[in-house]
Parts: sequence; structure tokens; C-alpha cells
Amino acid sequence: STPMASEKQAALAATPSDVDGPTIFDKIINKEIPPTVVYEDDKVLAFRDITPQAPTHILIIPKVKDGLSGLSKSEERHFEILGRLLYTAKLVAKQEGLDDGFRVVINDGPKGCQSVYHIHVHLLGGRQMNWPPG
Ligand code: IMP
Repeated sequence: STPMASEKQAALAATPSDVDGPTIFDKIINKEIPPTVVYEDDKVLAFRDITPQAPTHILIIPKVKDGLSGLSKSEERHFEILGRLLYTAKLVAKQEGLDDGFRVVINDGPKGCQSVYHIHVHLLGGRQMNWPPG
């Protein structure tokens, strides 16, 4: 099957019964699974996606999930971390030299093709993006 189909299958297979449970990103945060880190501070971690969909494909996540399994679960207390995630995407885009443009994506829920229930911003670049997305 195509990578896109398998991503979709992973997302549908991940349809969450326990969105507040641990995810693979906990193991990445504690470096049990060592990520390729491109940016890190006290609040957020940015690392390369293991299945890149573009020459640059980076995930930006909060180090503390605090109920943010996905954007649809966000509350007012998350305003600051949501801003940090997007601002970090901008910083990393600059660091990666994506001066001619890039894309940020947040997949949410089964129909949004979300497969990991710990909020993450995808930063994609290094090639011409298409619209509409698949
Ligand atoms: P989602 O489909 O928006 O939930 O994105 C989850 C992303 O996490 C996918 O693009 C996966 O390729 C990526 N991913 C899953 N496991 C790992 C890992 O261990 N390291 C880096 N990226 C991962």
C-alpha cells in the first residue's frame, strides 16, 4: 500500500479508547526512544518525523501533555502552550532554511488522520506543497 494509505490505516487503527493514556511521544520526551532533536527548551521538543512526508518533516510537541491529546481537547489553560508550539514551528522553519515557505499541520481525530494522541504540530517543507491536502 502507499505511504499515505498506511498513514491513514495507522490513524484509523489508533482510534482512541484512552486518549489520556501514554503515547510513544512519552518515550521520545524521556529519550527512551532517542529522537533526532532539532529544537528543545523547557516547554517544547521538536524532532524529525520517523516517516518524513517532505525533505523537512518535524514534529513539535509539548513536553507536558496536560490533557492535550489533540487540538479538539484544548481549553483556555492551553493558550500559552498552543502559541509556543506555533512559534516554535516558525523558529525551526527559519533554522531549517525554509525561507520560501513551509506548511504547519495539526491532524485531529480519526477523520483528521491523527495517529498519536499527544498534540503535535507537523512542520513540512523543502518541496512544493499541494492544495487541497489529501
Ligand atoms: P499524526 O498522524 O498527525 O498523529 O502524526 C503522528 C506522526 O508521528 C506521524 O507522522 C509518524 O510518522 C510520527 N511518529 C510516530 N512514531 C514516531 C517516532 O518514534 N519518532 C518520530 N516520529 C514518529
